[in-house]
Amino acid sequence: MSEFDLIRTYFADIGPARADVALGVGDDCALLSVPAGHALAVSIDTLASGIHFFPDCDPEHLGHKSLAVGLSDLAAMGADPAWSTLALTLPSADEDWVRAFSRGFTRLSQAHGIRLVGGDTTRGPLSVSVQVHGFVPLGAAIRRSGARLGDLVCVSGTLGDAGLALRQMLEGTDVDPALRRRLELPEPRVALGRGLRGIASAMIDLSDGLAGDLGHILRASGVGAELDLMRLPLTPAVANAVRKDADWSLPLSSGDDYELCFCIPRERIEDARRLGVGLGCPVSVVGVISDQPGLRCRQANGDLLNAVRGGFDHFATGA
Ligand code: ADP
Ligand code: MG
Repeated sequence: MSEFDLIRTYFADIGPARADVALGVGDDCALLSVPAGHALAVSIDTLASGIHFFPDCDPEHLGHKSLAVGLSDLAAMGADPAWSTLALTLPSADEDWVRAFSRGFTRLSQAHGIRLVGGDTTRGPLSVSVQVHGFVPLGAAIRRSGARLGDLVCVSGTLGDAGLALRQMLEGTDVDPALRRRLELPEPRVALGRGLRGIASAMIDLSDGLAGDLGHILRASGVGAELDLMRLPLTPAVANAVRKDADWSLPLSSGDDYELCFCIPRERIEDARRLGVGLGCPVSVVGVISDQPGLRCRQANGDLLNAVRGGFDHFATGA
């Protein structure tokens, strides 16, 4: 198959037709229109073989995940997904691989109403870059910089599942299938993110672990936070792993969760919970914003420890 046949067969018709796409795949550029009164939210992510995924990973899962990470960024701004573009670098024109990749990309595109409007296909070491575009009403985007003293810190779903799957894969032990799905087929929290417009004061998606990603909110907002470790939402598998080694790095600093972390004024917390219940996506309060900079974690015995990269600073003076 030629490059053009490959594109026409597997990438020309991904996602629903949209009235805001005057011209999609096939010309030198796509022609698109942003609805009046909205900002265009744009984000791009690259997944490189051997860095972000195992070279022999299921191509259908890779198609899903390469779009999911972008959708998670749109979710974290409170944006509605509209369009994607895809830059694919392939070592060879393996049609079975491309068909499966396209299938995974298509299924998630349909689920979120996002249309693939263009891209680039080249030969080289396997790598996938996806740019996503979404709309958010002017002034309604949820930035990292809006957290305020007294806001509650919340997370969606559960933390550390993808990190535990990766740990099991690297150890060569049997990987729990449910955990593997969390690593390879993350479900971006798009509906929750857009539902939090007008409710959340700040938001980020969890790609690098709660401690680091919440840290971005804290720095951007000029505040600090106290996390209550006992309130972190954990699946039994992750809770066991934490208990076994008394090591909180899975929920705090392992990547690829693609949950949302957001801050919310205390009086709006029931709105967020109701939203989560309606969407079948648990929302947990895990901490509170304080005016003392940095992130502190309250342990089971009540001690407060400073979170540092990869663990705790046991020499910090607790409060
Ligand atoms: P040009 O050389 O003008 O950049 P290309 O040959 O790269 O055009 O691509 C031809 C058309 O196919 C363009 O509309 C481009 O957006 C689209 N395209 C190429 N690769 C992909 C891909 N992997 N997914 C979606 N569209 C693609
Ligand atoms: Mg090109």
